[in-house]
Parts: sequence; C-alpha cells; structure tokens
Amino acid sequence: MFKISKVKSRFVLDSRGFPTVQVQVVVTKNSIEYYGVSSVPSGASTGSYEALELRDGGKEFGGKNVSKAIANVNSIIAPVLVGKEFKSIHEVEKAILALDQTPNKATLGANAILGVSMAAHKAVAKSENTDLFKFLNAAYFANHKMDKMPRLMCNVVNGGSHADSGLEIQEFMVVPNLGNIEKDVQAASEIYQTLKSQLKKDGHSIALGDEGGFAPRIAKSTDVMDYLVSSINKAGYEGKAELAMDCAASEFYKEGKYTVDEIAMTPKELNGFYEDLVKNYPLISIEDGFQEDDFEGWKINTDTLGKKIHLIGDDLFVTNPTRFAEVGLKKGLANGVLIKLNQIGSVSETCQIINDAKANGYITIVSHRSGETTDAFMSDLAVASQSEFIKLGAPARGERVAKYNRLLEISDVI
Ligand code: PGA
Ligand code: ZN
Repeated sequence: MFKISKVKSRFVLDSRGFPTVQVQVVVTKNSIEYYGVSSVPSGASTGSYEALELRDGGKEFGGKNVSKAIANVNSIIAPVLVGKEFKSIHEVEKAILALDQTPNKATLGANAILGVSMAAHKAVAKSENTDLFKFLNAAYFANHKMDKMPRLMCNVVNGGSHADSGLEIQEFMVVPNLGNIEKDVQAASEIYQTLKSQLKKDGHSIALGDEGGFAPRIAKSTDVMDYLVSSINKAGYEGKAELAMDCAASEFYKEGKYTVDEIAMTPKELNGFYEDLVKNYPLISIEDGFQEDDFEGWKINTDTLGKKIHLIGDDLFVTNPTRFAEVGLKKGLANGVLIKLNQIGSVSETCQIINDAKANGYITIVSHRSGETTDAFMSDLAVASQSEFIKLGAPARGERVAKYNRLLEISDVI
C-alpha cells in the first residue's frame, strides 16, 4: 500500500531543442517520500496510427509547445491520483488510463499520460527499494527470467526525416555480436569512430543527424552499406558485427511506388532490392521495409525474407496491441515488433504488446525516438522484458549514450 502525494508536470527540452513533457510523481510509503521523474520522447517519422502527441499549435516554440498536455497532467490527472492510496502500480495505471477512453489518447494526449505512467513506475519502484528493471520484470514479465542483455542496434548513418543526407532509407545500423554487453558497446564505439575517419578521409561530411549517426551526402544506400562493412572490418570486428536497417518506407512511398536511390519501384521490385541486400551484406534485420498500410508489400516481404531475417513492424504496428493482433497476427505480417512507449502512451499497454508478441513467436526491439532526453527508461524496459534487441541510436550525444550507459550499469547488477 502506498499513497501518491504529488504529480507535477513541466516542460523540458528534448534533443532537437523542442519542449517535451516531464512529470514528477511522489509516492509516500511509511511516511517516507519516493520521487520518480520521467521525460517523454518524440518521433519525427511518426506512424499515422500512433497515439496522439498533444502539441499546442500556434506561435510558441513554432507550434510545438506542450502546455496543454502539461495542464492536462496538473489539472486533470493529478487531482485524481494525489492523496489516494493504491495497492499496486497496476491500480495506478488503471486509474490513469480510465481518464481517456479514446483509442488514441486524444483527450489528454499520449505525452501527458505516458509522462505520469513512467514517473509513477519509477517512484513505486523506489518505494519498494528496487531497481526499475527489476520492478518492471516482476510487474509484467514475471515468467521471463532476466539472464541476458539485449543486443544493440546502433544507428550510425542517418537519412530520411532525421537528416539532410539525401538518403531515403532512414537508418543504417551496426549490430555487434560479441555476446557481452560491455564488449558490444566497445565494438559500437570503435566501429563508429572508424566510420568517422573513413568518411572524413573520403571528403564526406561528418555532421550528425538527429540520432547521432553521420549524415553524409552519399547517393546510394549500397555505398553506405559498403562503408559500414569496411568500418566493421577495419575496426577488427569482421564476422562479429552485423547490419540492420530501418527503411521507414512510409516516408518514400507515393501512389503505389517506392523511390530509393532515385529509382521508383513497385512493391515487388522493392522486395527484390531487399533480397539483393540480404544476399550481399550481413543484413539481419529490416524495419518498416514497406508502407504502413501496404499489406500486400508486407506479405511479399514476409513470405520471401521472413524465414531468413528479422522483419520489424514499427509504423506498421505502432506498439498497439489491437493493431498488432489485426495486422500482424491475423494477416501474418512481419516477425518482429518495434516497441516505443510513446506510440501507445502507457507503460502497461507497452508491456502488454511485448507479451503478446512473445506469445506469438515475434521478437521485440525496444526503441528510442529521434527526439530524446537523457531519460533511460527504455533501457530498463529492454532488460526487464528480455527483448532480443534494443535500438538506441549512435554511441554519441548525451541523450543517446544515456541509454548505452544505463545498460552497462544494469549489467553490473543483473
Ligand atoms: P522516429 O524514428 O522516432 O523519428 O519515429 C525512429 C524510427 O522510425 O524507428
Ligand atoms: Zn522505424
């Protein structure tokens, strides 16, 4: 039994310099106060079925102010929770979620609800004198023993809406495979630094995109893949690091055609392009290879590559248990689910889809957003849920390394 004694929201800045919702929740137990503070991430290439991120519009912060979401926390959610006693975090979640009955959290905003949800989990974990990842594991994944760390997906070249590199494909990632988190982080760092020197040597820009990866003006995506392979080899990790991509294909889809590297392709041709990449590179995962409603494209993709590599639905599933059941399970599309807390807007629903995915043989990848803060909640969630992978940007920039460093910290106590 504990009491929620304070819920207070304010804005802080995210990694793009835009305001985002931060929430502080204070839990009182045996007259001692326990604080939980969390900040909400924000996407740029958002799926159209994501829960609503409530922004003010108008002039302030170029329309991106979140004062309405903050007011919803302070004057609608807080009065319902503050002063009340709860038996468990599940009861708190129920009380929060009951306040917005819309399917996409349009009344209060997913950013408002998620901020409270994450901060409440942190505060209650503290009141139980336990680490967040242990608390999440016990609350939602009790039958998954925490005996492994997730593998890293490190986004080292940024394209799409995260950079002005001109590349249509949004993310080119290296995936170290040393079987040890500390060594994986070291590999990620060394490969990243090697890539930087290689790009510099060839006269390319080493400016960074939103997720800390480089944003060189390289015209062809296969040229980027060549750079990644040679950086892996040069850094001494040949055969010990693989590749992954997030195409975010909804962003380069128009009237039935996909344009990559200046070539407009039918879904079938695009799938052929992916098949060639899989043949020629150590590519183990493709995320959002097709547009979010192009179920035929996704079907071709799943039928041809689904047994060989991970095919991950991000915009396709939007971390929504209902959409995953209808689009993933019923239609048999993809074989992995990208997990983003703010796509659905609460911790409990996020954990539900992870469990649904696992129960149906899909892998899960816990993911950051392109707009982040130093809050590393997602690292705890990745370990707690024993997700196969964690997607966390480049091993550079404060808001990205916060996630790497939290994993290292967890690995010492797991
Ligand atoms: P976003 O990008 O956070 O801008 O949506 C990440 C992704 O598409 O996975
Ligand atoms: Zn994505």
